[in-house]
Amino acid sequence: MASSIRNSPTFRYCPLCFREDLERHGELYWHRMHHIPGWDICVKHGTWLNHSKVALRQTNKHVFAEPTEENCPLDQVAFITDSELLSHYRSIGNGIEALLTQRFPHRPLDWFQRHYESRLRQKHYASPVSGKVDQAKLQRDFIQYYGNEFLGRLQSSLRGEFHWLAAMVRKHRKSFFSLRHLLLMNFLGISLEEMFEQDEQYKPFGDGPWLCLNPAAEHYQQKVITDLTISTCEITKEVIGTFACSCGFVYTRRAGESDQNKKSRVKQYGEVWEQACLRLANESLSLREIGRRLHADPMTVKNHIRGKEVKDGRRNSQRERDRTEWLSLQQQHPNLSKTELRKLNSALYARLYRNDRIWLDKHSPKPSKKKTRNNRVDWNQRDLEVLAKVQDAVSQILESNGKPKRLTVGRIAAIAGVRALLERHLDRLPETKKYLEKTVESEKQYRWRKIQWAMAELKRQDEPLQEWKVLRIAGIRKEHAPMEFFRKRDSIFVEMLKEI
Ligand SMILES: [Zn+2]
Ligand SMILES: [Zn+2]
Repeated sequence: MASSIRNSPTFRYCPLCFREDLERHGELYWHRMHHIPGWDICVKHGTWLNHSKVALRQTNKHVFAEPTEENCPLDQVAFITDSELLSHYRSIGNGIEALLTQRFPHRPLDWFQRHYESRLRQKHYASPVSGKVDQAKLQRDFIQYYGNEFLGRLQSSLRGEFHWLAAMVRKHRKSFFSLRHLLLMNFLGISLEEMFEQDEQYKPFGDGPWLCLNPAAEHYQQKVITDLTISTCEITKEVIGTFACSCGFVYTRRAGESDQNKKSRVKQYGEVWEQACLRLANESLSLREIGRRLHADPMTVKNHIRGKEVKDGRRNSQRERDRTEWLSLQQQHPNLSKTELRKLNSALYARLYRNDRIWLDKHSPKPSKKKTRNNRVDWNQRDLEVLAKVQDAVSQILESNGKPKRLTVGRIAAIAGVRALLERHLDRLPETKKYLEKTVESEKQYRWRKIQWAMAELKRQDEPLQEWKVLRIAGIRKEHAPMEFFRKRDSIFVEMLKEI
């Protein structure tokens, strides 16, 4: 790999190791430990390595050059006399030896980065919130710890502003020479075992679960939230946690904020909160009072009540129309059974079945008594039943909160609980098949729906509708965005704003 550490021009050896080898094996061999680039001592004997008379790079690359007493004189021994220097050599040397002889799991580059980030914070070399490293302090202490001589001998001096240590503690996807990893690890007190075995993660909000701050929820101020997303503010670079509760309440908190009850912003109030809001409104409480109880400003309360009423109103009037239509269908065809009526208007039936089942059962022709026993499956009947379930599943998927999920046959079938039936007998279920064909989304259609959702999201958060923001929230890379998005962007925004 790329490294600024130069290798020795010759093969090297420790005369004391070689004397032992002669005695024990009757011959000599080149030691791996003596050929680490940048390394120049024998850890075992505390001696400086000697240069042999054999060049590391031979002109003939097929030559076999073995060590002999001739090219490696055994009488020239130089001990390291500086004990502090030797102790630094030993701590790094032990690491090299371990890396050469033990098995460690393979880890991706950012794995090591996480360890450094976390330990730099702990040791106050990095800001606990932003993670920004105090480079000057780190450099000073690092040189103080190892001394310039040792770093110089290991070809790892810190000169100027852009030295290897500064690069190593920055966010990077680069690899660094292992000797330098060992230097930094040893300085920060990270053992090889910790480095490879422990998954170090910076936890700015501690361990979960975290508090739900929805005053309308039964579990208010209880530690129930397990869904935490950590991000960084684009402008202030602060670390932001987004806490999403199962009750639908989503809020954010800054990492530096020690008060767990303090939220920066509510991103979503959710169904539970909205229901409570409406209930209090029905009790004729003032907006201000509702806001006080539900921890929101009166304007927010007002917007939610209005939004909810419009939505409910739309749903109710649709139901009235459906009921009337179903009754008039029966008047027009007094002799038809429920199943036959259903075939006449399957969409109407499916809507009522889904939203108004109790009423539907009460206001449909009763099944005739003379029911003949029939073991054969009535596929027409079954088709309609499956269709209703499938339509039910589709609306569940479409109405679910959060990022849109793609409408696929697999997902729909799983939710409807008819997977096996669709896999084996879709051809006997023509209505269901037809419906699925026009409902299942292509990749492109799905991307469009995500874009629309992302725009609505931005609008809800009162954020400007910027192209890159829309794509980021939708989770679509620019090159994958539908071309029309860019072409029609402005008109889409206008349309969207009208709708929202
Ligand atoms: Zn030795
Ligand atoms: Zn909650």
